[in-house]
Amino acid sequence: SNETVHVFSLATGHAYERLLKIMMLSVTKRTSAPVKFWLFSNFLSPSFKSSATYMAEQIGCEVEFVTYKWPEWLRGQSEKQRIIWGYKILFLDVLFPLDVKKIIYVDADQVRRNFGLSILENRILEITSCWETVSYLSTLCVDLERFRRELVGDKLRSIYQQLSADPNSLANLDQDLPNYAQHDVRIFSLPQKWLWCESWCSDETKAEAMTIDLCNNPEHKEAKISMAKRIISGDLFEESWEELDEMVRIYDDEFSQFELTKL
Ligand code: UDP
Ligand code: CA
Repeated sequence: SNETVHVFSLATGHAYERLLKIMMLSVTKRTSAPVKFWLFSNFLSPSFKSSATYMAEQIGCEVEFVTYKWPEWLRGQSEKQRIIWGYKILFLDVLFPLDVKKIIYVDADQVRRNFGLSILENRILEITSCWETVSYLSTLCVDLERFRRELVGDKLRSIYQQLSADPNSLANLDQDLPNYAQHDVRIFSLPQKWLWCESWCSDETKAEAMTIDLCNNPEHKEAKISMAKRIISGDLFEESWEELDEMVRIYDDEFSQFELTKL
């Protein structure tokens, strides 16, 4: 069907903003339906917002920015990674207008390889997971109508509030929350091919992966950009990461020229 696919993502800082544009380009290229990106604006730079809006017009996707302030009554976080994690899972019911009925959260460091981005029916929340208990929140598919109707946001925030009371549980909160929530909320695992990342998946399954995530391997730290160049290249890809990066750079240059002509 040609229904618009709604994608939610966020980024902080220059490097993740660069990755986010590449994600937007690869998702738009590899989705036959119209795509609309909902970007969390609290951390985005003004220059990203204007240049990404220009790029979106050129590549034929829509982009809209959403903002939300962490509520006073919900336990706050001080570490950047936890704040980001919170914004990607805890406020899905209140971030988007009510006419957005389904949404897919996609990490900024993902590159789409082939078609197939769609939401399965009758599943309120689907997440990528590697093993039975470890949940990997790089992709979430959310049936927002049911999510809102069944008050899943309230349930998740309540579980978060309980778990985060214990500072020791914080280390694995992003895994613990979905694991605990499974008793209250039907959380499904997305098919394995939805997400491939080098640290957790075998080389043999790369060829069927719909999306590549540049997830960090805690054992050997490698910069994301260097991983991107190494992992997203070769026969499996229509465009290498470097080619996508170059396309984004050209749009950015065009946009700067365009801005100059307005002076
Ligand atoms: N993120 C961000 N800035 C950061 C860290 C994370 O914007 O400093 C966002 C970004 O969308 C990123 C997501 O949070 O894709 C998850 O982090 P990351 O992809 O680095 O985690 P990994 O895949 O390595 O586990
Ligand atoms: Ca990631």
